[in-house]
Amino acid sequence: MSRNIADVKNTFIEIFGIEPEVFRAPGRINIIGEHTDYNDGFVLPAAIDLAVYVFIQKSGSDRSKLISVDLDESYSFSIDESLTPVGQGWVNYFLGVIDQLQQAGHELEGFNLMFTSDIPIGSGLSSSAALECGFGEALIDLFGIGVEKMELAKIGQSAEHKFAGVKCGIMDQFASCMGRDGHVVKLDCKSLEYEYYPVDFKAYDLVLFDSNVKHNLADSQYNIRRNQCEEGVQILQQFNAAIKSLRDATLEDLAHAKSSIDEVVFRRSKYVIEENTRVEEVCEALLAGEIEKVGQIMLETHNGLSKDYEVSCSELDLLIEIAMSCDGFIGGRMMGGGFGGCTINLIRKEQVDDVIEQVVSSYKKSTGIDAKVYRVAIGDGVGRHK
Ligand code: ADP
Ligand code: MG
Repeated sequence: MSRNIADVKNTFIEIFGIEPEVFRAPGRINIIGEHTDYNDGFVLPAAIDLAVYVFIQKSGSDRSKLISVDLDESYSFSIDESLTPVGQGWVNYFLGVIDQLQQAGHELEGFNLMFTSDIPIGSGLSSSAALECGFGEALIDLFGIGVEKMELAKIGQSAEHKFAGVKCGIMDQFASCMGRDGHVVKLDCKSLEYEYYPVDFKAYDLVLFDSNVKHNLADSQYNIRRNQCEEGVQILQQFNAAIKSLRDATLEDLAHAKSSIDEVVFRRSKYVIEENTRVEEVCEALLAGEIEKVGQIMLETHNGLSKDYEVSCSELDLLIEIAMSCDGFIGGRMMGGGFGGCTINLIRKEQVDDVIEQVVSSYKKSTGIDAKVYRVAIGDGVGRHK
């Protein structure tokens, strides 16, 4: 972690004259299930061992102060003010959570807070969801508010919608709140039912390569993909009225409708239908301890995202291509919305160092860009820091 917990705790005591309570909320990875969430499908996230740490104590008045240790910035306000988004980006995640809790009728008092995080910002590991969930949990605990973890996830999501202006799905906050050490969680994005699967990657480690690029196509293409999926559903419905979303469709349904569907929409729909099946396949492979198979399926996903769904980019494809040429790599894929961000990879433990070296140096040689590397393990969801 970037800063020692004990150091921040001591600084808190120096500034506020009282010992803080400490809470932790993790970032997340998604093993498989990409672009399935808005198609009512399945995702398979897990909480990771990188996290936000929130230090908090009541202020004894209506005044509240937030201190970002990492950015060396602070923000003061009154808990009784009516809250609206502000210019300091990070503050909005906090105000958004307060607003949601107050809207739900919960009584809050003033507090002082410091936070630090070792989740890389904007790399697709959901540092923002961790902020919302860590802070929400801190308030819930400090003021004895009766809010369950699943509700907290929804509060975080709404906070992000309303105060950060990001129309995110529920997966990030869900994983930060509901994650469990040693487990991935299969989430049904339609019903919000979920199921834990024990996971042991055995001889393999999870390694993320951050392409360090972010093409600004991401937002516009995201909206286009959503529309294309809707178009697919509308046509599939004409053949089978039971299809309300791509989650309800099979490849046979798609084959029946082929002559009526635009070629691009066909490929988009095919990817989503196949990806939902792949989530199920990975769950079975994990239960059977077939980690090589998990790697294979992740590669199929990458291929689908790159060729059929077309949300990859040359840098992400290159990271996968280089990794594929390395001994010890058994699979990987781009993770997240696409057009930049990270790849998630399974690599045999003994060869991890060699693969990292090879990927980073070949990537640099081809693109001139320094890839970042994150080695992550699966960890627990939000809670009091132990
Ligand atoms: P991510 O994929 O990491 O969630 P976002 O763009 O959704 O990326 O959220 C990143 C934002 O969250 C940052 O711009 C900042 O406002 C806030 N944030 C995350 N981590 C920190 C931190 N350690 N200190 C201050 N703000 C942070
Ligand atoms: Mg985010």
